[in-house]
Amino acid sequence: MIDDKVKIKCSKCSMMFRERAQRIRNGFQKQCPHCLKLITFDSSSEDNNIRRALKSARELRHALEDVAASADEH
Ligand SMILES: [Zn+2]
Repeated sequence: MIDDKVKIKCSKCSMMFRERAQRIRNGFQKQCPHCLKLITFDSSSEDNNIRRALKSARELRHALEDVAASADEH
């Protein structure tokens, strides 16, 4: 079973938290559970942590789709 969550680093408080890859897309907003900063996930963001989280989420979604596809074959 693949973990479907990606780690996100908050740029304000530098703490890590996790969110499901399915939810992290352009325009998705999430409040940091530590400092309550509202984080907007935007691929054109200048925040490296946000761009990295979006990239990780996209890769993880593809990996999860591969698992689902191979499960269908059996
Ligand atoms: Zn924070």
